[in-house]
Formats: sequence, structure tokens, C-alpha cells
Amino acid sequence: MELTVINVLLTVSFLITAVLSTLMAIRSTLLSSKFLAAASFGAVVWIVSMIIYLNVNNLFGLIFSARMLYIAGAIIITNFVYFTYTFLRETLKDGKLKAIIIGFPLLIFSPLILFSDTVIKDVNFVNHAYRAVQFGGLYFLYAAYMIIWSIVGYYYLIRKAINARDKTIKRQLTYVGLGTISAVTFGLIFDIILPGFGRFDFYWLGPVLVTFFVIFASYAIARHHLFNVKVIATELFSTLLFVVLVIRFVLSDSTNQYLLNGIIALSFLVFDILLIRSVWKEVGTREKVEKLAEQLRLTNEKLKQADLAKSEFLSIAAHQLRTPLTGIKGYISMFLEGDYGKFTPEQTTELEGIFRSADRLTRLIDVFLNVSRIETGRLDIKKEPVQFMEIVSAVRKDLAQQAAKKGLEITIQPPSEPLPLMMLDRDKIHDVTMNLVDNAIKYTPKGWVNIRVARSPSLLTFSVQDSGLGISANDIDKLFQKFTRAEAVTRIHTGGSGLGLFIAKKIVEAHGGRIWVESEGVGKGSLFNFTLPIESGLPEVSSDVKNPALESAK
Ligand code: ADP
Repeated sequence: MELTVINVLLTVSFLITAVLSTLMAIRSTLLSSKFLAAASFGAVVWIVSMIIYLNVNNLFGLIFSARMLYIAGAIIITNFVYFTYTFLRETLKDGKLKAIIIGFPLLIFSPLILFSDTVIKDVNFVNHAYRAVQFGGLYFLYAAYMIIWSIVGYYYLIRKAINARDKTIKRQLTYVGLGTISAVTFGLIFDIILPGFGRFDFYWLGPVLVTFFVIFASYAIARHHLFNVKVIATELFSTLLFVVLVIRFVLSDSTNQYLLNGIIALSFLVFDILLIRSVWKEVGTREKVEKLAEQLRLTNEKLKQADLAKSEFLSIAAHQLRTPLTGIKGYISMFLEGDYGKFTPEQTTELEGIFRSADRLTRLIDVFLNVSRIETGRLDIKKEPVQFMEIVSAVRKDLAQQAAKKGLEITIQPPSEPLPLMMLDRDKIHDVTMNLVDNAIKYTPKGWVNIRVARSPSLLTFSVQDSGLGISANDIDKLFQKFTRAEAVTRIHTGGSGLGLFIAKKIVEAHGGRIWVESEGVGKGSLFNFTLPIESGLPEVSSDVKNPALESAK
């Protein structure tokens, strides 16, 4: 065997395809992958046959290898079509007739090629470097078969790539398609069509190019999921460079050159191996990350659905609870108002206790309803012109008794300038204000609570400060989340829901405001604030019209 560029290229192709085909055969678990591996073995047969054909010097070897070339072609194309046909389907049972038709020509042509003159008649040994096959009468049939089967294979491939919903599969098919197209097209042109017209100039090119098919196919199997153009490009390019360096080495014409080119080729090989290894590592890592991200996405999706289902359940349950409670409260009011006769003072006290409990329950249900409205995006804000100080006054009045019971002093610092009417959802802002002041009273065992309202031209700031339990730095960031209660208070006040501040934040934000809390730590009191935008254009209201601020709330 002479050391020519063609021989070296074919040998390198042989080495690459032999190794990859074996790996593929070992790795394949799916039926379609097995066909791909079989097609790659066909490529190995093709390359080996070409090496023999171009180098052998006796007639028997020449004719035998020429015939093997065409059997190899049929093996490749048959398995390629089987691959495209079974890919994703992974069985041949549901399309038996098609399965038989795909394999039939190979069965017929193989013995015809090998044992008769009908396809390959003879080989003309023109000279050492140029050999020409003489074809038999059935060659055109064989050529037509190869062309038609290639088209069928691509038809399946393209159809599956278009229909694939999974992006990974789409990519996989695209790369197999692109990887095979050069091998198949050039194989058809240089080894089937041109030889039919007696041209054998690029006879050797088909088997060299088929290496690309094998490389792409082995990727398809080895990396079922991550096909990365960059990775493939890196490896192909570096392999090609290595091949060039080996050729340079082989063609060296002095000992010095042999040495130099050998060292260059070897160093490149080491570098190449390191490079490819790191690229594979990166692919592996990325694959893992992608898998994890996908899992996370799915879990997140499920969580969101569960959360929504819970909110809806909450809403339905709350509505069902509210209706009978309204009835209960109505009847108790009627009892208290004497509609059913007079009660003793003790009985009245008890009835009032029942009424308060029913009232508390209603408020709690409203809290749940609000949460479910927030979570399902149905929190309606109905704005109307409101005098904010009226709300403060009402809140103070509602909570005065509660504060007095604990001996807490509530003071109110009004804004220095009068507040204009503001566009607010009166009930909801009332709830927010109520919640903050109520908390301040609840979480302050003794001392004072100070309410302050300040304004700038475009902003109102409401603050409530207390001398109570305070909040640890750890809890402070979480208070406005659902069901969050500071650890210290859960021991003192077991009744809270941890939802009030969550709702308050949503309501304030829906008004375009901001809510936050400051505290120097446990036992050092807290300061809750929220802002609301003041829109221009609404009339100013004199702050002493109904300003409760100057009164003390004791
Ligand atoms: P609840 O009061 O029903 O527990 P909230 O959402 O209104 O629910 O409050 C959440 C938590 O914030 C409370 O459990 C408490 O730990 C803390 N908190 C609220 N206001 C104060 C305050 N003025 N002082 C200390 N802690 C407070």
C-alpha cells in the first residue's frame, strides 16, 4: 500500500468510523439507534473495500472489492432508511409491509452483485492509480434504488423533524440530517452517478465523506439530549487539523522533517484530547443543569397550580361560612335590641360576647377572602374621594376601648398642612390602618402608641409607632409575607393569622404606595409606615373640620 494522500485519508476515515461504530453498537439501546450503528458499520465496510480496491493488484481482489463497495452502499442506505423510519416509533411491528419493502432490495441486490455479472461485470485496470468498474445491465436499477431510498430516508427525516414538538428531538434530527447530507449527496454523485458515466476521479471521496455521517450519527446516540453545534464543530475541526498534521508527517521527506512534524502532530493530539475532554465536561454539566432547571420548572408549575387551587378553595369555603354568620349576627342584634323580650344584664353581657365572637369570625373570613382575591388577581380597588383623617379618626374610635383596657396611651400627630381629598378605596385603606394600629396595641403590653400623619406635596405618610415587643432583624424582612408571624409573638398572641400585613402591603401597593417597618430589635418597639400618593386637582379639606388628632384617645 502506497503512502498517498488518498490512502492516508481513507485509513484515518477507517480508524474513526471503526471506533465510533463499535462504540455506537455498544451504546445503542433503542431500535433506531441500532440501525444507525448498522449504517455506520456499512460505512466501515465501504471504506475498507475502497482501500482494498485502490491498492490490490490481482483481478480477483479487484472485482471482489469493487462488488463489496456496492454492497456496502446498499447496507448504508437500507439502515439509514430503517433509522429514519423507526426513529421515535422504535418498532417495526406496526408497519411490517413497509419494513419488508425497505430491506427487500438489499436482499435481492447483495447476491446479484456478489455472484453475478448483472450489476458489476468487471474492473478495468487502466493503470496503477486509475481503475474503472464495468457495470452490468442492472446497474441503472441499482443506481435508481440508491437514489430513491436516499430520498425516502430524507422524507422521513424531514417529516419527523417538522412534526417533532420536542425541541431536543428537532435538533437531533436536524443534525443527523445535516451530517448525512454531504455523505449521501457526494456518495451518490461520486460513487453512483459519475461512475455510471465512466468517471472515477473522485471515487475515493465518498468513503472519506461518509466519516462525517458516522461522527454525527454517533453523536446522536452518545448524546441523546444535548446536541451542541459548537461541540460538534470543535471536534470536527480539531480532528481535521489532526488529520492534516498526520498527512504532513507521513509525507515528510527527511529525518528532521519527520521528527519535527511528528512532534507537532503529537503535541496537537495531546492538546486535542484535553480540549475535547473539557468540551465534553462542559456538555455534561450543561446537560445536568438543563435537567435540573426543567425539573424545577415542572415543580414550580405544580406548586403554582396547587396554590391557585388552594386560593379557590379558600374563597368558596369563606363565602359559605360568611352567609350563616351574617344570619347569626342578625338574630343576636335582634335579641339585644329587645325584639324577643327583655334579658337580664348577665344574659345581655353573654349575648354581647357572642356577637363580638361572631364579628371577629366575620373579619377573619374577610381576611381569607381578601387573600384569595389577591392570589387569584381579583382584588378590586374602588376609589372615591376620601378624607384620610376621617379614617384615622374612625380607627382610633374603634380601638379606643381595646387600648384603654391595657392602659395604653394613643396619641395622634396630624399633618402640619391640611390634607386634600384623596382618591382611595375607603374600606380597604380603613382595613390597612386598622390593622397597623390594632397590631401596635396588640403587641404592646404597656407604654404608648403614637400615630403620625405627614404630607409632602405629592405624598402622604402614615406612621404608627409603639413601645412594644419590637421585631428582630431576622423577622423584619419576612413580616409582609403570607402567614408570617414573629417567633416571639406567637407565644404571647396565639390568635393571629399572619395575613394582615400581607394584605396591607397588597392594598397599599395597589394604590401606588409603599409599606415598610422599622424596629431596633426585640423589646425596642416598632414603627410601621405606609405612603399614599396625593393626586393634584382634588379640593383641600381644612384639617380641623373633623380632625380627631387634637383629642387624646384615652
Ligand atoms: P397577625 O397580627 O394576625 O399575626 P399580621 O400580618 O398583622 O398578622 O402581623 C404579622 C406579624 O408581624 C405579627 O404576628 C407580629 O409578629 C408582627 N408584628 C406586626 N405588628 C407588630 C408590632 N406593632 N410590634 C411587633 N410585632 C408586630
